[in-house]
Amino acid sequence: EHLASTAAIAEAERWTAHNYHPLPVVIAEGSGAWVTDIEGNRYLDCLAGYSALNFGHRHPTLISAAQEQLNRVTLTSRAFLHDQFGPFCRELAELSGLGDDAMVLPMNTGAEAVETAIKVARKWGYKTKGVPRDEATIIVAANNFHGRTTTIISFSTDPEARADFGPYTPGFVIVPYGDLDALTDAIDASTVAVLLEPIQGEAGVLVPPDGYLAGVREACTRHNVLFIADEIQSGLGRTGATFAVEHEGVTPDMYLLGKALGGGIVPVSAVLARSDVLGVLRPGEHGSTFGGNPLACAVARAVVGLLRTGEFQRAGRDRGDVLHRRLNGLVGHGVTAVRGRGLWAGVDIDPALMTGRQACERLLRAGVLVKDTHGSTVRFAPPLVVSDDDVNWAVDRFADVLAG
Ligand code: PLP
Repeated sequence: EHLASTAAIAEAERWTAHNYHPLPVVIAEGSGAWVTDIEGNRYLDCLAGYSALNFGHRHPTLISAAQEQLNRVTLTSRAFLHDQFGPFCRELAELSGLGDDAMVLPMNTGAEAVETAIKVARKWGYKTKGVPRDEATIIVAANNFHGRTTTIISFSTDPEARADFGPYTPGFVIVPYGDLDALTDAIDASTVAVLLEPIQGEAGVLVPPDGYLAGVREACTRHNVLFIADEIQSGLGRTGATFAVEHEGVTPDMYLLGKALGGGIVPVSAVLARSDVLGVLRPGEHGSTFGGNPLACAVARAVVGLLRTGEFQRAGRDRGDVLHRRLNGLVGHGVTAVRGRGLWAGVDIDPALMTGRQACERLLRAGVLVKDTHGSTVRFAPPLVVSDDDVNWAVDRFADVLAG
């Protein structure tokens, strides 16, 4: 039994660096919210590629956009323009609601979008705000997750992400997440930006107190500081809105997008901002060989097209209501807390019962894929195409696991 999987797991273990600790499943196919392993077992995917698969596996509209583009041209580099580039930037800018002078800077991974925003904010600080050269600081939150580059881990508070990878990039000030007074007090003449996740995903789906994001927006405006919203995980339908900041009626100065923007097909990330912000960059100062390539743009245009219908935001809201209602019913039955918004939940498991990892392993055997974070938290974030029956079925399996 499971011979093929056992061999495939052993091969991967032997030949890859051990920077991940995957659950013991070897996926061969995916469709919608479901995947099949190499032995033919089916699983409901409640991780959805850390929200890169908001539209599910192989959404037909996205696959045909990719296939059409594969038959035309896939890469030009930014040395030349291509016919998907302008439309992609315009359509994404229009989706953002940033206004008539919104601009888009495409990259590939989320971390690259964050790095791009840091560079743009610093240059904006020197050229527009008048901060003395090399003195710019950016305020970030404790327990953030913005990616894995050396600069980004420099302002992580997670020892696993940070220790042994110094020396660190200076220029960041860390304040507690959700504490508006602490953030406002940290703003000084050298502050060029505040960089936040509207909901902290990897920290365990932490939703800040009501009014926090609106308060940050107000403080940033008052002190001439850029508000950078990292919507790489929270954006594009996951919380029941196009952007998680919408829940507080907030418009940031920069949106960072990634993950679902590539439809689960190709890595696509982007920085969106008004021209007085993104306009500080001149030719030669920033770029990426693959950023804004034709295949990426074609797929991302199809993603924007899906989001324009509002159908997926609505699904995030409606399926999310079912998910949260059901999960909240487990509080006191092996669950100590449930957080989140839309189709995105962080669930704390009673540590006396089992670890998060053990819960994930048992859910795997029951046909549900989830991933633990920080010891005893499990998050549920299935694709937005999941059905109510699927959501109920997954929570039933979770209840079984908790009941032993
Ligand atoms: N920002 C946030 C909020 C994330 O959740 C992630 C990934 O989990 C990133 C940035 C980094 O994205 P990537 O892994 O594509 O570099």
